Amino acid sequence: MAREGLTAFQAVNRNFEEAASIIDLDAEMRSILTTTYREISVQIPVRLDNGDLVVAQGYRVQHNGARGPYKGGIRYHPNADLEEVRALASLMTWKTALLDVPFGGAKGGIAVDPNQMTEKELQRMTRRYATGISHVIGVYRDIPAPDMNTNASTMAWFMDAYSAREGYSPGIVTGKPISIGGQPGREAATGLGVIFVVEAYAREHEIDLAGCPMVIQGFGNVGSFAAQEAEVRGAIIVGVSDRWGAIRNESGLDVAELMAIVRAGGKITDYPGDHETLSNEELLELPCTFLIPAALDEQLHGDNADQVQAKVVVEAANYPTTPNADKIFADRGIDVIPDILANAGGVTGSYFEWTRNIQQMPWPIERFNEALQIYMVRAYEATSAFAKDRGCSLRQAAFAIGIERVAQAVRMRGYI
Ligand code: NAD
Repeated sequence: MAREGLTAFQAVNRNFEEAASIIDLDAEMRSILTTTYREISVQIPVRLDNGDLVVAQGYRVQHNGARGPYKGGIRYHPNADLEEVRALASLMTWKTALLDVPFGGAKGGIAVDPNQMTEKELQRMTRRYATGISHVIGVYRDIPAPDMNTNASTMAWFMDAYSAREGYSPGIVTGKPISIGGQPGREAATGLGVIFVVEAYAREHEIDLAGCPMVIQGFGNVGSFAAQEAEVRGAIIVGVSDRWGAIRNESGLDVAELMAIVRAGGKITDYPGDHETLSNEELLELPCTFLIPAALDEQLHGDNADQVQAKVVVEAANYPTTPNADKIFADRGIDVIPDILANAGGVTGSYFEWTRNIQQMPWPIERFNEALQIYMVRAYEATSAFAKDRGCSLRQAAFAIGIERVAQAVRMRGYI
């Protein structure tokens, strides 16, 4: 998508430029960091179960690897294209640097509608994609993970296809099933990380999470675990949505019930408890303290930001807020906790899983969750302190911290 005349990559680079000006980054470094290192576009023929052939297009973009192996998820979505994947890859560079995990930034995608495909078709497609990009990935080169419409099974097929060529390589992907080297806690890590950041924000702004109304758009991996963790802390989930629709109840929705429905393949609107149905657009305009977009890009934009009634937007999804919406939120005094901070629990958990794999040493879930909290809170506090010190937004602060670290690594390695 390209709302407001900007592609997603241009929008991310606009955020980059704002932050780069705050830290006086020179022009040469700006031109290195606003372009990508390597881009792969690969043909993926998929034989469907009915014998027909579909030729899908797959992508892998490696944005910057100065701080470590490239790292980033793989998304299956009809709108996936090279420009979107570039944007998401660059966000990964700033995110891994902000969290101070030793990775660079990458992203992958295949332009298909996985909801129209069977499990066998998805497996054949994933294996072909893994083979198609195998020459540019590796345990110390580039490590994929799940993203939208991909999950632990996708990672298992990917790892198997890669390991068939290269030998047993659990560290080639993160977000794997536990039985083949996955990490207990990783599945919930992005949603839990979102709530660790919400908690840190609430502590700083003296907001009591008990009884605090929250709205969550998207109830997949990120949205559902964020809802669960928020509910554990006493927050009231007053509205949720998925791709089929949205529901609300001011007194609160039962998250465990919603999770059970979605896990069984149902829709949010199948919820049996008290609720009203509404459109996804209306959901974003519900009164609440925290609005958590956890679905797609560009959901909050110049045409709806004025109607948002939340006090804080927490970007669990990547690039859910366009630059025009960002400006409207700033004018209206609505804080935005940016994606590269809010959803960084995923890549941080992936770092712990990768460490486990290369050391062949298990991490109990308690150690995993404790370390995740330390990393998320540390990144939040650094971002908030920078924003206060320089009088800038949380997004500008988060980008500035990440950019400074990457630029330093580029210089130290003598890349330019
Ligand atoms: P997912 O596929 O598990 O879930 C996506 C959810 O969004 C589903 O509930 C789907 O029904 C819903 N959805 C789709 N279209 C929608 C629409 N038009 N309106 C409302 N809801 C809609 O995906 P996920 O892994 O939870 O990823 C969600 C977002 O979080 C993406 O932006 C992704 O890049 C980001 N993210 C994911 C991870 C991770 O670890 N999975 C990590 C960091 C960031």
